[in-house]
Amino acid sequence: MIPFNKIYLSGNELEYIRQSHETGNLSGDGFFTGKSSRWLESNTGTKKALITHSCTAALEMSALLAEIQPGDEVIMPSYTFVSTANAFVLRGGIPVFVDIRADTLNIDETLIQAAITPRTKAIVPVHYAGVGCEMDTIMQIAKKHNLLVIEDAAQGIMATYKGRALGSIGHIGAYSFHETKNIIAGEGGAILINDDQFAARAEIIREKGTNRSQFYRGQVDKYTWQDIGSSYLPGEDVAAFLYAQLEKAEEITQKRMDIWNIYHEALQELEQKGDLRRPIISVECQHNAHMYYVLLNSLKQRTELIQRFKKQDIHPVFHYIPLHSAPAGKQFARIYGELKQTDDLSERLLRLPLWVGLGKQQKDVLKVLGAKVVSGFFLMSNVLDMIVLRALNGIALI
Ligand SMILES: *Cc1c(COP(=O)(O)O)cnc(C)c1O
Repeated sequence: MIPFNKIYLSGNELEYIRQSHETGNLSGDGFFTGKSSRWLESNTGTKKALITHSCTAALEMSALLAEIQPGDEVIMPSYTFVSTANAFVLRGGIPVFVDIRADTLNIDETLIQAAITPRTKAIVPVHYAGVGCEMDTIMQIAKKHNLLVIEDAAQGIMATYKGRALGSIGHIGAYSFHETKNIIAGEGGAILINDDQFAARAEIIREKGTNRSQFYRGQVDKYTWQDIGSSYLPGEDVAAFLYAQLEKAEEITQKRMDIWNIYHEALQELEQKGDLRRPIISVECQHNAHMYYVLLNSLKQRTELIQRFKKQDIHPVFHYIPLHSAPAGKQFARIYGELKQTDDLSERLLRLPLWVGLGKQQKDVLKVLGAKVVSGFFLMSNVLDMIVLRALNGIALI
C-alpha cells in the first residue's frame, strides 16, 4: 500500500517535546515558540513571524488585521482550500473569485484589475504547490488601488519568487504546518507580518485581545483586554515538534526535491506523447517540491487512472472542488468573469504520492502511469540517484 502522504520525523522532534515537558510549562509562547519565530524571521526576511495553531488561524488573523467589514470584497482564486475564503467570510467579507492561469494554476494576475470595485479591500494570492504567483504585478495593482495583499503561502515554506520567500512579499503572509505540508507540526501555522503597521495589533489579536505579550516582555506591569481577538497560538509541545522540523527544513526540502525530480524526468516522455501535462515552474520561482501533480486530458482519463491506482493499493488524490461550485461558495462568494480554467483544470488534476521515505515505491507509482522506468536507475543507491538527478537538473536549468 502506498499512501498519498506519510508523516516524517527529521530527528529531534521527540527530544524537543520531552524538553518542553521538562520546563513544566506547556502553554504557548515558550522557548520553542520563540525559536520557531526567530527561525522564520531569519529565513524568510519577514519583520515579525508569529506561530499560530494553523494557517487557517493565520488567515483569520489577517482578516481581522485588514479590518474586513461586512460587504467588503476580497479577490482570490476559487481553486484553493476553504480557509482562504472562510477567514474573510467570518468577518462578513465577500470572496470575489477570479480565474487561474493554465500554466501554474495560480491566480491570473491579468484578471485582478477588472475585478476591483470600490468595496475591494484585499487581494489574496495562493501560491499553489509552492510555486509563486506573479507577485510584482499583484503588488503593483494593490499599490495603485490602495489594497492589502495577504499571501496564502500555506504550501510555500522554503520556496521563493525572484529570490524572496513566499509569504514575505505581501503585507501579510500565512504558512501551514499541517501534517500534509512540507514542514509539519501536526496542526500548525504562522503569520508573517511584513508591514510594521500590523505588528503590535497582531500580537494582541493572537493573545485573546490582550497585551499579554508585552507583559511577558516586561513592558507593562499587568495585561488587560485591549482589542478584539481570539486564541491563535499553539502549545509548546507543538512548537517543539515544529522547531525540530524547521531546523532540518533544507534537508527535508532537498529530499522532497529529489523525489519530485524523479517524477519529472520519468514523465517527460508521456508528456511528449500527449498523455499528460507536467507542472510548469517559471524561471523566477524556486519551488519547494510541495506537490507533484499531473494534468490528464479529461475527467474520464483521471477517473480510469485512479481506478488503476486503487487496484495496486496506491492512493493519489485530487483537489480542489472549486469554491464557487461548493454550497457555501454559492452562498457567500461572488464570481468575476468566467472561471473556465478553474473548472477545466480542477477536473483533470491528480496529485501523486510525495513524502520523504517514498523510496523505491515511487517506481510502482510511475508504472501505473505507464512511464518507462529504467530499473537500473532506481536500483542505484539513493545517493547516486541524487547526484545524477542534480546533474540533470543543473543542465535543464542552463
Ligand atoms: C493547507 C492549506 C490551508 C490550511 O492550512 P491549515 O494549517 O490546515 O489551517 C490553507 N490554504 C491552503 C492553500 C492550503 O493548502
